[in-house]
Amino acid sequence: MTAPLLTTRDLSVTFSDGNGGLHALGAVSFSVLPREFVCVLGPSGSGKSTLLRALAGLLRPSSGTLDFNGLDSPPRIGFVFQQATLMPWRSVLENILLPLELQNLNPAAAHAKAQEMAELVGLQGFENSLPRDLSGGMLQRVALARALIHDPDLLLLDEPFGSLDALTRERMWMELSRLWLARQTTVLMVTHSISEALFLADRVLVLSARPGKIKLDLPVDLPRPRDDDMRYTEPFGRLARQLKAAIE
Ligand code: ADP
Ligand code: MG
Repeated sequence: MTAPLLTTRDLSVTFSDGNGGLHALGAVSFSVLPREFVCVLGPSGSGKSTLLRALAGLLRPSSGTLDFNGLDSPPRIGFVFQQATLMPWRSVLENILLPLELQNLNPAAAHAKAQEMAELVGLQGFENSLPRDLSGGMLQRVALARALIHDPDLLLLDEPFGSLDALTRERMWMELSRLWLARQTTVLMVTHSISEALFLADRVLVLSARPGKIKLDLPVDLPRPRDDDMRYTEPFGRLARQLKAAIE
């Protein structure tokens, strides 16, 4: 048995609102294995973003525990939000290498690594472009490259393709699958889309309405690589129906 990368036990988050508190999340208990791709589905306001922020250490859980088993230093986290949140005055390459700059890596090495990442996400030729000259899909590629450049132990994605058109989104699914395989990263991704979850995930967690609790933990045993035609297969339909029933 592989030991999990992370385990939460009764993790719960309550925000103070001057009125007894707003119970946003929990209590949730789950584990994520190394290199696993886990998607989180749930209604709006069910605490999905709150869960990711707690895992990233950006907010403190109100109760429960969060353990990165087996890591002997604090986890390195990559985070991609729905909007790419790039620095508008910096080029593609300068945005990608930002995390290394913060780590004080020597500039030449940082530059070479950023160049490699730009190529990995398909941005060769755009290294010197500014964010304002890029399409939505390209902006999210920059955000992915920036999140992956410091080889995170855990990549957190919060509806990263939510603002993209359908065709671009599906192209990004293929890209993300490829990146995940190539980098052997562990991914936890929030999405609104059942198809997106089934296209990408090894496992899907469904959260209930607020306070979010795990309503379903569904293994996705569809073969890889996955493609468009898979959507019309019987196993895909069966999993989709199970997820839909749990969300409603
Ligand atoms: P989701 O991502 O599933 O849509 P969120 O995690 O963003 O949900 O929010 C869950 C609940 O917590 C919502 O009711 C939201 O308004 C509330 N919430 C989120 N962040 C804060 C905060 N910093 N302070 C107070 N309430 C918050
Ligand atoms: Mg959210």
